[in-house]
Amino acid sequence: MSSEQKSGITRRGLVGASLIGWAALPAVSAMAATSTGLPPVGKDEIAVTLIGTGSVVPNTIRYGNSTLIQAGGLSFLIDAGRGCAVRLTQVGMPMGKIDAFFLTHFHSDHVIGLPDLWMTGYLHPTFGQRAGMMEVNGPIGTTKLCNSMRDAFSDDIRIREADEHIDDTATRIKANEFATDGVIFNRNGVTVTAFEVNHGPLIKPACGYRVDYAGRSVLVSGDTKFDENLIKHGVGCDVIVHEVGVASEKLQEGDQLIMNHHTSPEEAGIVFARTKPRLAVFSHIVDLLDDQRPATAVSEILRRAKKNWQGRTMVGDDLTRIVISHSTVKVQKFNEAKGTYGV
Ligand SMILES: [Zn+2]
Ligand SMILES: [Zn+2]
Repeated sequence: MSSEQKSGITRRGLVGASLIGWAALPAVSAMAATSTGLPPVGKDEIAVTLIGTGSVVPNTIRYGNSTLIQAGGLSFLIDAGRGCAVRLTQVGMPMGKIDAFFLTHFHSDHVIGLPDLWMTGYLHPTFGQRAGMMEVNGPIGTTKLCNSMRDAFSDDIRIREADEHIDDTATRIKANEFATDGVIFNRNGVTVTAFEVNHGPLIKPACGYRVDYAGRSVLVSGDTKFDENLIKHGVGCDVIVHEVGVASEKLQEGDQLIMNHHTSPEEAGIVFARTKPRLAVFSHIVDLLDDQRPATAVSEILRRAKKNWQGRTMVGDDLTRIVISHSTVKVQKFNEAKGTYGV
């Protein structure tokens, strides 16, 4: 019997479910406000922590792409790039305390950290501590991925249940799939809207997410080319976290193929000019200039985006935190030496 059969959720039932039906699905993870090493999130605030700002390239400065969003006493992770378990532990966020996971698409750099979050998350120490099922939301293919993980790592489950008395429930995954744009999650006053993006004709499905809470909002682009549907969903968002690809202006051989799947800084500037966020944030930096010298890409991205957008803009670093309130959008940098935010 598969995990989804045991949970009473069938793939057919979920794929065909109405959006309202999705929202009505019972919560599985703990609903209480999450206690972590991260600064507390104020009432009516959304906090965004860039867990990993990199791409598929192994890099010690920019880990694989993941974004933590906290609001309404809930914590979500959008995508699970390489090293996300390490970065979450670095800021004292137990991976077992993340209430729901969201996948944008199935490129390996967005899901390769998921087995780590899942299996390390069900261990007893403070970095883990998941009590209930892991909830993974994503486009069609999410159920297959989750069931395959359980098959691939079935021996770990068997051994740890016997040897470490891991609760079987904590090893289970509830996969929620969606096939169309719309609200796919609604809990504690937090809504998550999925929308299709254009990552290239062969890279489907691919989506981005908009999170709304208490009149505040943040959009995470996922991987995409310049996309009108993203702009449609991004209008009125306080913060837009957008991917970017940056290459030399005279493209080197092979760069065009990569840039065909991503948004240039100039194009992102147009996206921001049309959506007018209070803060525009670049993450998922596809650096085709010199990925071992990230400062070069940062200055180029900002210079080129500015051609089309002069509003507040930043290139995120791993663990940069953005706190959105009614009156302010604050940026906090992680002090690696002290292991805390602020000075
Ligand atoms: Zn990617
Ligand atoms: Zn991708």
